[in-house]
Amino acid sequence: MDLKNKYAQVIVDIPNLDTRTFSYLIPDELQGIIKIGLPVLVPFGNQGVVNAYVVGFSNYLPEGINAKYIYEVLDTEPIFDIEYLKFVEWIANYYCCNLQTVLETAIPSNFFSKSKRIVSLLEDIDPEKKLNKNQEKIIDFLKEKPETSVFNLQKKTKIPSSAFYEAVRKLRSSNLIEVNNLIELKSAKPKLERFVRLSGSIVSDSPAIPKRQSDVLDCLEKIGGECKVSEFLKQAKTTATTLKKISETGKIELFDKEIYRNPLKIFENQGQDEFLTLNSNQAEALSQIINSMKERATEPLLLYGITGSGKTEVYLHAIKSALENDKNIIILAPEILLASQLAKRISARFGIEKVAIWHSNISEGERFDVWERIKTNEVKIIVGARSAIFAPLKNLGLIIIDEEHESSYKQTSPAPRYNAKTLAMERAKRTGSTLVLGSATPDITSFYRAKNTEKILHLPERFGTAELATINVVDMRHEFNTGNKSIFSRVLKHNLARNLEEGKQSILLINRRGFSTYGQCANCGFVAECKSCSIPLILHKTTNKLRCHYCSYERDVFNTCPECESDAIKYFGLGTQKVEELFKKEFPKARAVRIDSDTMTKKNAHIEIIEAFTQGEVDVLIGTQMIAKGLDIPNVTLVGVLMADSLFNMPDFRSGERGFQLLTQVAGRAGRGDFRGKVYFQTYSPEYFAIQHAKEQDFLSFYHFEMQGRNELSYPPFSYLIRLVISSRSEIKARKISEEVAYKLRVLTESRGIDERLEVLGPSACIISKIKDEY
Ligand code: ADP
Ligand code: ZN
Ligand code: ZN
Repeated sequence: MDLKNKYAQVIVDIPNLDTRTFSYLIPDELQGIIKIGLPVLVPFGNQGVVNAYVVGFSNYLPEGINAKYIYEVLDTEPIFDIEYLKFVEWIANYYCCNLQTVLETAIPSNFFSKSKRIVSLLEDIDPEKKLNKNQEKIIDFLKEKPETSVFNLQKKTKIPSSAFYEAVRKLRSSNLIEVNNLIELKSAKPKLERFVRLSGSIVSDSPAIPKRQSDVLDCLEKIGGECKVSEFLKQAKTTATTLKKISETGKIELFDKEIYRNPLKIFENQGQDEFLTLNSNQAEALSQIINSMKERATEPLLLYGITGSGKTEVYLHAIKSALENDKNIIILAPEILLASQLAKRISARFGIEKVAIWHSNISEGERFDVWERIKTNEVKIIVGARSAIFAPLKNLGLIIIDEEHESSYKQTSPAPRYNAKTLAMERAKRTGSTLVLGSATPDITSFYRAKNTEKILHLPERFGTAELATINVVDMRHEFNTGNKSIFSRVLKHNLARNLEEGKQSILLINRRGFSTYGQCANCGFVAECKSCSIPLILHKTTNKLRCHYCSYERDVFNTCPECESDAIKYFGLGTQKVEELFKKEFPKARAVRIDSDTMTKKNAHIEIIEAFTQGEVDVLIGTQMIAKGLDIPNVTLVGVLMADSLFNMPDFRSGERGFQLLTQVAGRAGRGDFRGKVYFQTYSPEYFAIQHAKEQDFLSFYHFEMQGRNELSYPPFSYLIRLVISSRSEIKARKISEEVAYKLRVLTESRGIDERLEVLGPSACIISKIKDEY
């Protein structure tokens, strides 16, 4: 049978093009090389040369089509297989967006572009070889500049695309040149690091070794015989010159070793953690997970366990079991900070080689290395934020979503607008993997579903003797009326002071997403708003600027009111910066550090802060909801929530659920060690139901209360909601089109007789009616 296919079907990587495939001729030289999932270069109309992915083959063409040749391959190995492609197609279909956009999220195409493809001359060129004019031009150029990017080579040789790529292919298949992927031209070479190792045995009584040198050798032997030079110089308290001298005696060897650019490196020297013996609830949960993996059952399991009940330990055991069965694992955390924490705990059990971290904040080079390590199946565990669900890991057996209730698993903008939880369910179904959703405060919908399928794994108790913290609701109206104008209630202040004295640690949460520290004129009421978004600008003290939190627009503070020219502009509200400032005024000796998205700009800054807090180098951590989750630090015994009300003020049917979750989560940070924790919710509405339920830390009663309200109003899980957002720079146009769409949908549902089941609401303006000049 002839296995040759004449045509390859590709999808071209041009955003906003309708999803469809195009056929290209496969040149002889690329026969056998072209496979599904391979990135290639193709000519595409007046767009010139574009990236594309091979998605299929055929031997005939629809009539009237004149296929061109594929120019080149951008990698020699496929970057996805057919299963993965089907998964991606499903996503595009489900979320009504084109395939290229989904692929772009999964596989950033800047990995594969012609400017990052390097052509190099292979050394021995047979002078007998007959070359045509173009091939000669290319070889001549490469003789001058042996490593040139494909992009440059074409530009410099001025050969037209089609002839150029043909020449490159021919040269390549006759082994005169090679073409390789490079991710960053600057750091093109794999990263090398200088190492030292013992060469041969040390005979201790061998003559003429100065004591200093033998000490160094002893030290090297003690730490395993091999070490990074930079590291070793510190360990052995010696110098590079001494090392060089010893290496001349042949007793040690200095050499370069290739290392991956691995962000987990910083955890490299942590000790190996032991697996803990599970208690009976944990063991029961684990055995159900293992069963599910065995049966390849794909109904999600909900691991519902209060904070500190040992969910993470169950994950670790489940991962171990998956690895023992040669299965790979994806584990998601709701945000980068938590993903790093989790990666640390996981690599302490399984070693950093098997683990890779994946989120939007890793560099292109790092991501590229992870890809390479996935391809060679070195990486078996991917830890990451929501986009890690796309990781092209093969042989998947287990997907874990920690803190599954978090809204950050949903990407609302840009497209693809997806929910990583939904994708995980689909991927689990397609691969026969087990999906474990873990939370202390499950998503109402997840809980409802798991209850119906009897897939709830319950961990009802905190591990060991640690008891839940005591929670107090502080009525700030009362504080104010009795003369305390500070943002800290008396009781919180008192406990903060005591914790500082006793060397224990505290957390202060302030939900800055409320409209905080905005400027308003006390004379005329003018509010300083962003010029492109309909929200107030927020004061940033460190730079003394007003900044928009939606579009990052910045301007100087107003000295006088632009409306009435009075100088009565006052700053209201509370943000993390203000809390930090007031706290430091109150407790000048305390070591306080703030974490929010403003402090996260430096790479790894968040990891460093959390490390410092974990090590006890920081007394008080002040931050937004980022600090509410996941931290497991025994010495934290006090949590204060400032303005708990602001958590519930969003006009969203989930705001009660979200607020309850956040309060319960942050309360769970206190008293995880030997000392009982104390938590204070400061509020102006202590009677609010979600605050009351959070005080009791009673998910079940909250669930029942909430479900009743949802049922009455037909909110999820009693319905599905689809939200259509229509935006335009013209307010009139946005309004007109919204009305048209709503009208057409209504006509459609009525004419099909489904208006009972499909109700059309709106249109209505968004909560923030203008963002970045778009209405
Ligand atoms: P969760 O993820 O549910 O918040 P963790 O897994 O972080 O809880 O566990 C809370 C604490 O209990 C951790 O300090 C952990 O080391 C400890 N722990 C959990 N399971 C066990 C166990 N089986 N034996 C001993 N300690 C455990
Ligand atoms: Zn004014
Ligand atoms: Zn703005």
